[in-house]
Amino acid sequence: MKKRIALLGATGSIGKSSLDIISRDKERFDVVLLSAHSNRKALDMLSEQFPSAVCVSAENNTEKLLSSIAETKPDVTINGISGAAGLLPSIAAINCGSDLALANKETVVMAGNLVINLAKEKKVNIVPVDSEHSAVFHLLKAFAQEENENAVNEIILTASGGPFRNYNLRELENATAQDALSHPTWNMGTKITIDSASMANKGLEVIEACKLFNFPPEKIKVVIHPQSIVHSMIRLLNGVIYAQLSKPDMRHPVHDALYWPEAYPLNLDSLDFNSLTLEFYKPDLQKFPMLSLAFEAAKKGNLYTCAYNAANEIAVNAFLEQKIKFTDIPRITEHVLMLDWNGDEMNLDVILKSDSEARLRAISYIKKLSN
Ligand code: MG
Repeated sequence: MKKRIALLGATGSIGKSSLDIISRDKERFDVVLLSAHSNRKALDMLSEQFPSAVCVSAENNTEKLLSSIAETKPDVTINGISGAAGLLPSIAAINCGSDLALANKETVVMAGNLVINLAKEKKVNIVPVDSEHSAVFHLLKAFAQEENENAVNEIILTASGGPFRNYNLRELENATAQDALSHPTWNMGTKITIDSASMANKGLEVIEACKLFNFPPEKIKVVIHPQSIVHSMIRLLNGVIYAQLSKPDMRHPVHDALYWPEAYPLNLDSLDFNSLTLEFYKPDLQKFPMLSLAFEAAKKGNLYTCAYNAANEIAVNAFLEQKIKFTDIPRITEHVLMLDWNGDEMNLDVILKSDSEARLRAISYIKKLSN
């Protein structure tokens, strides 16, 4: 039987990778829903390519997107939406019994426990599409007898280090959005590229890993690996480390999520070991405080991770609008995280209120900074 696919964020980078994988196997996949944020032109082109799919332009129209998910009842929803806007669509997908191929890390960072519980209740699978988490997910399935901290000693997330890896503190202070947007290995959207430069992206991924794999932050390590060939690793109790390697290409994790639990061939450029150098470094937490702030937020748990994400989203927007310096991003996030973010993390209204509250706090702090 064909898998009916909803593709959210169809015109973004995950969307493009997904459409490539889907188009390779028309016998297997049927696109029933396509959504884009604001790129109507690209969405119109897709609707010609997939005439039977419902197409939704979701900007200022979340309700329409949520009702379309419920009406089309996909078997698998690929969530490639950027930012907090991805949370409600993820919940809508789970609620209608759809498996979730999840590239939107904010879903888990904001509401991990709620979403994972809901998925269990509705008996749907969440398969990560973030390259690191896809690697860990499949490594755990392949090598760990149990998917928890009792069977695995450590999750080791790799990080490219981003475009500012070799900047000193002074250079970071003066870094511009343009500098950040020239990312060395992955070609991604604007928000995630800035997050990669500040290492907030890895911070979000640390939190994502804690929630998805039910691991304490103490057992999650980050290692800088500029080539982005090793996508992540697990260290078992016997000390042995298993790693997943491939060329950096998001079609791998998309493919693995869409065919999961089946192992199905995919012909992409394979790794050439004859011209391969792999380097690993310790991350510099002094230069990249967004990473240590994420570990702190993960340790505090509760709604702190939601506040971390909200403060960072506001700070990144302000940076893109040239209202603040690059190094103000962690200052703003740290300021917001000093407030009390305890609350009922299983209550969606409380989560959304905390998200808005953290945004307001960040905005008022940005005003203070620029005065
Ligand atoms: Mg990633």
